[in-house]
Amino acid sequence: MNILVINCGSSSLKFQLIDAHSEQLIAKGLCERIGIEGSQITYAPAGGKKLETVTPMKDHTDAIRLVLDALTGKESGVVKNLDEIGAVGHRIVHGGESFAASTVITDEVIEAIESCNDLAPLHNPANLIGIEACRKLMPETPMVAVFDTAFHQTMPEEAYLYGIPYEYYEKYKVRRYGFHGTSHSYVSRQAAGLLGKDYEDLKLIVCHLGNGASVSAVKNGKCVDTSMGLTPLEGLIMGTRSGDLDPAIIEFLCKKEEKSVGEILGELNKKSGVLGLSGGFSSDFRDLEAEFHKDSEFAVRTMKAFAYRVAKYIGAYTAAMNGVDAVCFTAGLGENSGFIREKICAYLGYLGITLDPEANGVRGQELDITTPESRTRVLVIPTNEELAIARETYALVK
Ligand code: ADP
Repeated sequence: MNILVINCGSSSLKFQLIDAHSEQLIAKGLCERIGIEGSQITYAPAGGKKLETVTPMKDHTDAIRLVLDALTGKESGVVKNLDEIGAVGHRIVHGGESFAASTVITDEVIEAIESCNDLAPLHNPANLIGIEACRKLMPETPMVAVFDTAFHQTMPEEAYLYGIPYEYYEKYKVRRYGFHGTSHSYVSRQAAGLLGKDYEDLKLIVCHLGNGASVSAVKNGKCVDTSMGLTPLEGLIMGTRSGDLDPAIIEFLCKKEEKSVGEILGELNKKSGVLGLSGGFSSDFRDLEAEFHKDSEFAVRTMKAFAYRVAKYIGAYTAAMNGVDAVCFTAGLGENSGFIREKICAYLGYLGITLDPEANGVRGQELDITTPESRTRVLVIPTNEELAIARETYALVK
């Protein structure tokens, strides 16, 4: 069965068509600037030529219509007709406390997702638009919602509650939810496979280090803690997000800079993290790594602060699980930068970790990067959120 995976943002839409049996990618692409002048669709059949077409898309229904046309087109199409798309898997950012697992989309599910809109005002409404557009164009095709938050719903109360009046949790569900759940779930399962051990019998720490970054603690196959919170702003220092800070800083800066809470929050989301710490130099770790090697002061302080924060979380989660069998690195930076993995692991001597420098230099494959003597394993596991969504979707509709 072919599964269409849709990841819908407010003005963009990423898609992949995946064969659920062979788990091979059939085609993928991206619609950009939806509803804005200069809309463009990029479409790439696996092994074929990438096509970029500038064409108007007034809304997401137009975008999905173009995606379906591309997939079924005469020349570069990969399926004969829409009947060859067995199901659609939608990435949904926030499932609140309503969803601890993926679910087949019904009217009730759409209502429940809508009720989480307050918790992710930028993302959930866009995700819902994607669902509605697919329903219009493929009314008979089953659809599944796969939530970024679901994997983390197994966290115990002591991990998800904040130290604020309990009534705020009761009234508004203010608590830790966590994100990147599809990636943390996929990577931790792959790690068990790579280690040749039972998933239910392992203590794993997953470091998803991309533009957005988060760490999770996975004990006996269940997430027991994660670094992102009510929103993706908490936790690690990220590309442009601050991560953890003293909440009093917000009022302090509002007064000093004569800015509103909204303005400061905008800065914490878009102008902070490594971009902010490097004095506005770049949010891309590749740029900073290059400057680090030139001993640029701004790059040294930024990379040190980034690595230190990750190491601090690894320490906290080792304590939370009373040990750790393997630390896993994934996403753009975690998968590709041996430099940053080494910087982080330099703090982990107490876990008896010894990296194998040669293995740490390899890219693009699942690998144990420690020496045989290392007491704790360190793994690189390329994440594949689309495949994880296709697997979840197939499991529910087959
Ligand atoms: P997201 O999905 O959150 O946008 P990704 O997982 O694609 O992010 O990660 C993107 C980030 O990964 C880039 O901003 C870049 O800093 C980092 N990255 C990618 N390749 C490398 C590399 N070879 N070395 C260091 N950093 C890299």
